Amino acid sequence: MTDIKIPLRDMRFAMRELFDWDQHYASLGYEEATPDLVDAILEEGAKFCENVLVPLNQIGDQQGCTWKDGEVITPEGFKEAYQQFVEAGWPSLAHDVEHGGQGLPPSLGTLMSEMVGTANWSWGMYPGLSHGAMNTLEAHGTPEQKETYLAKLVEGSWTGTMCLTEPHCGTDLGILRTRAEPNADGSYAITGTKIFISAGEHDMAENIVHIVLARLPDAPPGTKGISLFIVPKFLPNSDGTVGERNGVVCGSLEHKMGIHGNATAVLNFDGARGFLIGPPNKGLNCMFTFMNTARLGTALQGLAHAEAGFQKSLAYAKDRLQMRALSGPKNPQGPADPIIVHPDVRRMLLTQKAFAEGGRMLILLCAQQVDRTHKGSEEEKKEADELLAFLTPIAKAFLTETGFESANLGLQCFGGHGYIAEWGMEQNVRDARIATIYEGTTGVQALDLLGRKVLMSQGELLRRFTKVVHKFCQTEVDNEALSPFIGKLEELNKQWGDLTLHVGAKAMENPDEVGAASVDYLMFSGYAVQAYLWARVAKVANDKLAGGSGEVDFYKAKLATARFFYDRIVPRTAAHAAAILSGADNLMELDAEHFAF
Ligand SMILES: Cc1cc2nc3c(=O)[nH]c(=O)nc-3n(C[C@H](O)[C@H](O)[C@H](O)COP(=O)(O)OP(=O)(O)OC[C@H]3O[C@@H](n4cnc5c(N)ncnc54)[C@H](O)[C@@H]3O)c2cc1C
Repeated sequence: MTDIKIPLRDMRFAMRELFDWDQHYASLGYEEATPDLVDAILEEGAKFCENVLVPLNQIGDQQGCTWKDGEVITPEGFKEAYQQFVEAGWPSLAHDVEHGGQGLPPSLGTLMSEMVGTANWSWGMYPGLSHGAMNTLEAHGTPEQKETYLAKLVEGSWTGTMCLTEPHCGTDLGILRTRAEPNADGSYAITGTKIFISAGEHDMAENIVHIVLARLPDAPPGTKGISLFIVPKFLPNSDGTVGERNGVVCGSLEHKMGIHGNATAVLNFDGARGFLIGPPNKGLNCMFTFMNTARLGTALQGLAHAEAGFQKSLAYAKDRLQMRALSGPKNPQGPADPIIVHPDVRRMLLTQKAFAEGGRMLILLCAQQVDRTHKGSEEEKKEADELLAFLTPIAKAFLTETGFESANLGLQCFGGHGYIAEWGMEQNVRDARIATIYEGTTGVQALDLLGRKVLMSQGELLRRFTKVVHKFCQTEVDNEALSPFIGKLEELNKQWGDLTLHVGAKAMENPDEVGAASVDYLMFSGYAVQAYLWARVAKVANDKLAGGSGEVDFYKAKLATARFFYDRIVPRTAAHAAAILSGADNLMELDAEHFAF
């Protein structure tokens, strides 16, 4: 079986050659993030992921987590791997020095998360959720809360969770019921049931910090009446040690399709002591800090499964001998040719490659904006924040949809062997499937993009992005080498704006037009963003080749992938555009009673 290798060369291509992160770090004042240090971090991170986490991926799937009397045991080796992760200081990498962090750029944390996720997604969710809890406390916690909880999370000795979902409410958090009654000492008694809580109970750390949405007694109905609380599994003593058990218990674990190594818990809160974060009734606003971190984290999951499936199916396609090439034998000494000679297998491999490498570029573009929101000037922070608001739903939904498509194609390259557990390809498909659902389904991300981000800003957030694309096209319009890309990109960019105007105008008469167009609009947007990034790749690769770079094959492969993307993936936008233009009537005319007879 092929072991996953961390794609360091491609990561460096995206961060250095495409986005010039060395200069980006220097300009933001991250002096310690020197190229040498960044390289050392990547090398060490890759070693840990390849040597420790990759071997646990299939074990995690086979053993899963076990529940007994409220306690959860994680798969063999998970706990020890977490101890090594903590001892090496990985949880603190990109957090503030003030709270025990190493103060390195958040984007370096993203690179580490990519490596961890590609190696073993289920394991990576435990520290991944802590990361969201840390960001929430950093942004909204009181100084005491930061001292008590944040420092432990940064150290890694405690982990975090995100508790939103209840049995009757997932997408619609406005109807959540968990109650928070004030106690005399200023804390709150939290009562209710949360379901589907990732990393909600486990044996990997000494305490778990649940970040919980609940309602105060006098709260207004809907989303305006939700507050946010810290509810620790064990109440901390004043000296920071773990004290009395709090009234939150894991009632059971879900039996699920994939990510078996991660505990998906039902949590029963029975008058558990909780501590308010941020102002009363503003919990959803504060939780958005967590959700945005988690949305980018989930976008990464799409990339992780695309990369893992691609690597395995590529190795298999070079090795598996079946049939002869249509153009004559390529392995005349053997009984048949390796399947990589067949055009259809190449279609599947190149699609995965384009989505994995393209996904990485989009994630790094977002991660770069996160850095700017931390350290930039006020103007830069605002600009980065707005770009991130626009790109996050695209990254979350598009990369998880294409990640699942890639995982599926990876399995298909193996034929029947892909369907057999031994090779790990069916696990990759099962693990990838959840990513389009949690952290807001594709449908919900699409409404967020088209409704909130694009139409509610009167198209402004889209216009800012398309202006950047337009400027790039204008600069490169006379560049002969880029002619396969620039005209098409300019056309796509213009069509993006036209489609937006079209839906915006129709939505004034019928609000259902937004919902009817939204997923196609999001996918169109994803392909458009990727087309821009692949055109930039083509520019870098051409410049390198023209400049006499020694890595001729690497840059030629980039150019070939860019051409593949433009020739075979970009045409998908035409189908999405046609669906958008077809309007809402074809979806809405059928009476609910007439769907089946
Ligand atoms: C393995 C796993 C781990 C999870 N981890 C966590 C966690 O750590 N913390 C947590 O709080 N939750 C977690 N969740 C819950 C997850 O976030 C929800 O399942 C998800 O938000 C969808 O909610 P729902 O399941 O209630 O579906 P529903 O909200 O009932 O949606 C059902 C369908 O209707 C669609 N739909 C609903 N409303 C609209 C609308 N307005 N427009 C268009 N379509 C709509 C949805 O897209 C979906 O297809 C997890 C779930 C799973 C399965």
